[in-house]
Amino acid sequence: MSNELEANLGRAAGYLERFKAGPLTHFIGGEAASSTDPDVFDNVSPIDGSVLNEVVSGTAEDIDLAAGAADAAFEEWAGTSGKRRREILHDVADGIIERADEIALLESVDTGQPIRFMSKAALRGAANFRYFADRAPEARNGVSLPDTDHINYTTRTPIGPVGVITPWNTPFMLSTWKIAPALASGCTVVHKPAEWSPITASILAEIVQAAGVPEGTLNLVHGFGETAGKSLTEHRHIKAIAFVGESNTGSLIQAQGAPTLKRLHFELGGKNPVIVFEDADLDRALEAVVFMIYSLNGERCTSSSRVLVHESIYEDFTARIAERAGNIRVGHPLDPSTEIGPLIHRTHYNNVVNYLAIAEEEGATVAAGGGPATGRDGGLYVSPTLFTGARPDMRIAQEEVFGPVLTAIAFADEAEAVRIANNVEYGLTGYIWTKDVGRAHRVARDLEAGMIWVNSENVRHLGTPFGGTKASGIGRDGGDYSFDFYMETKNVSIAYDTHTVPRLGA
Ligand code: NAD
Repeated sequence: MSNELEANLGRAAGYLERFKAGPLTHFIGGEAASSTDPDVFDNVSPIDGSVLNEVVSGTAEDIDLAAGAADAAFEEWAGTSGKRRREILHDVADGIIERADEIALLESVDTGQPIRFMSKAALRGAANFRYFADRAPEARNGVSLPDTDHINYTTRTPIGPVGVITPWNTPFMLSTWKIAPALASGCTVVHKPAEWSPITASILAEIVQAAGVPEGTLNLVHGFGETAGKSLTEHRHIKAIAFVGESNTGSLIQAQGAPTLKRLHFELGGKNPVIVFEDADLDRALEAVVFMIYSLNGERCTSSSRVLVHESIYEDFTARIAERAGNIRVGHPLDPSTEIGPLIHRTHYNNVVNYLAIAEEEGATVAAGGGPATGRDGGLYVSPTLFTGARPDMRIAQEEVFGPVLTAIAFADEAEAVRIANNVEYGLTGYIWTKDVGRAHRVARDLEAGMIWVNSENVRHLGTPFGGTKASGIGRDGGDYSFDFYMETKNVSIAYDTHTVPRLGA
């Protein structure tokens, strides 16, 4: 065991101690709250199957209390000046930085994501708060639209209490990506985090409260999707739901939210293509292809899980990917040298391993990995896997596996590459590698996806629109797009008294 791993294990155990002392509680109206249901559930380690801690299980009554607290706090928080909201949200970012080590280590232990990525995810959480803090004073801004006889201007006001429902893959980062703009807008929030990775949501609630928001501004209800999550989407006080998760869950939420006419923003699944043309800088393309499927355990919505390679370079390029995949270090997530850790949960692990069997049945060739990682007993470790010789209609070329599993498909020309890329239900991201400028623009235009990167892996700019098309999502966030979701726009039209008012019955 390396010294660094030993040190990380020691600090993680220290941070976990208080969460082991009693079940993780909800956070309602500014304080820790137990559940109306005495039942608790176990939060299980992906590393060795041990119980990390217990968690209270949210009920419809708990959601009602949290939504009531968010509703009661709304007037005060929405009426807090943008300047003050800016200060408070920067204090949240400071609080995250102060606890970054704790957040990174516990996130890593809770999700199985390697510490090399989770330390950055904690810092990115702070960056999300700073970005939206700086924009809080302008959140209400609108536009001026003068016409011949009228001047129109728009204003924005926060929509009300909102629900935020997040998944388990990078839970802290994703929670901050939703909660920061909601709070910057002046909305109050009820957060329902994923049941498989609940710990850092509780830390975030503590940090936000300590930064000085009115009680009830951020509420947290732990528990399961079918109970706590469902009740949140149905609650009459909750005006909008920001949801990140699976496409099927998005469909359920759309139906659940229909009777109360919820505004919805969905960030859903993906089966994203990376297209490598023969004229690309193949060394840089290789780094990006390997990074975008094998980082974050492949449990990443924007992962490029299909690599489409021009037939003239297919054999050579896929051999290079296979070599890299074979060298990737699978190991304990707290070891700084680890590149792939254990998958989050036994159910998800079984699902990923099942896809490996399906791929072989369908006739794909295992060029790397293809099964559980050897020598790592007790944990949910999968070898970084590459399937070659895949056809576009195979299930591993169509369905989201959400693990370190890459499917390589050859194409003959640009038109075929675009056809294969678009021939899936999803449309979140697309990655294009070519030095031909015209081709880069043509393919970027023709790909059905919300976000395209040319000659790059996923590098984020927080002001750009983030979101997907088709089964990958509804709506965009990032920059002002987030404010549009969390706020209502009002148009005010004022006459210059120059137009003729129509007369009836004169
Ligand atoms: P999931 O849909 O199973 O769960 C997400 C959240 O929804 C959890 O908190 C869960 O408890 C809750 N939930 C489940 N059923 C619900 C219901 N009926 N009503 C209300 N809430 C309910 O997703 P997951 O397995 O946790 O996450 C993985 C998925 O998330 C993948 O498909 C991945 O692509 C997607 N994802 C998308 C993005 C993006 O930005 N597009 C980012 C990260 C993850």
